[in-house]
Amino acid sequence: MKRTMTRPINVGGIQIGGQNKVIIQSMTNTKTKDVDATVKQILDLEKVGCEIIRVAVLDNEDAKAVADIKKQIHIPLVCDIHFNGDFAIQSIKSGCDKVRLNPGNLEDESKIKEIVNLCKEKHIPIRIGINAGSLNKKYTRTPENMIKSAWDHVRILEALDFHDIALSFKSSDPEECIEAYELASKEFPYPLHLGVTEAGGLLNSAIKSSFALGQLLREGIGDTIRISISDDPIEEVKVAKKLLRACKLRDDIPNLVSCPTCGRIQYNMLPIVKQMEDYLETVNKNVTVAIMGCAVNGPGEAKDADLGVAGGKDSAVLIKKGEIVRTIPQDKILETLKQEIEEF
Ligand code: SF4
Repeated sequence: MKRTMTRPINVGGIQIGGQNKVIIQSMTNTKTKDVDATVKQILDLEKVGCEIIRVAVLDNEDAKAVADIKKQIHIPLVCDIHFNGDFAIQSIKSGCDKVRLNPGNLEDESKIKEIVNLCKEKHIPIRIGINAGSLNKKYTRTPENMIKSAWDHVRILEALDFHDIALSFKSSDPEECIEAYELASKEFPYPLHLGVTEAGGLLNSAIKSSFALGQLLREGIGDTIRISISDDPIEEVKVAKKLLRACKLRDDIPNLVSCPTCGRIQYNMLPIVKQMEDYLETVNKNVTVAIMGCAVNGPGEAKDADLGVAGGKDSAVLIKKGEIVRTIPQDKILETLKQEIEEF
């Protein structure tokens, strides 16, 4: 897929933009000053494939806690700051790898300049996060005005010769997101952080985010994504991975093919699919696994997969690269597939 060229930024050793892979982000929902809880959540997110984590910085205590958190995690950390630029300054001093500012609620230009100078010194990028719902009061809510609002702040940064910028244009309305990001992609050379915000629970968000981000990614727009879900952030990473795999933008994420089952099924397939989905969250390989219900479509679908099973009576045949290898009893199907994936 042809992707729009953007000016790459370095976030704690991870490149965002240019033609680099689309990076998966999430955000903790713990109190940042609760270092143990925050670190635990980040380590859990790392395990399922989160590549950059953002934490909310509400006060100086949160900003100071970043130093302790950073020592215990392995992925770059972004501090999310609203209203008070001093918290951004403390977060940078604590070693964060990027700051996210919402210019709509951070209007003190001299403070923005101070933040920019410190970021320059420490080689830390800034994401300007425009939200349709919290645009500067001088603008009515339109995608065009989201771009104007971003320009107001990009100009300040550019005037200070600061170009390590990422931009986001989030809205809870997927169509508004699409329009804003399409405009942004034409206007700015900077990497775009995609997301539909306030997207609802898992199912709602997965649908809205896939609709908006899927279209944008297909157009070559987007350098990093965050799926916003009212749920455990682990779910955000899972959805992001599946979306990028479906868009064929990442080949280090497994693909699962499985049938919906019907009256022809003769083995207990659904628990195997569920457990395999969970297991594949922990695998970073370009492998397609098919779990099919019966011999009608099963062998055909499994033939195109790297590994697959097609059900028989209380059993399934194992298929490798289109060849039927052997029959596996029901209670050994999952274990056999896992072993084959490990050896793949
Ligand atoms: Fe039904 Fe077999 Fe198709 Fe699954 S593969 S939906 S069990 S016909």
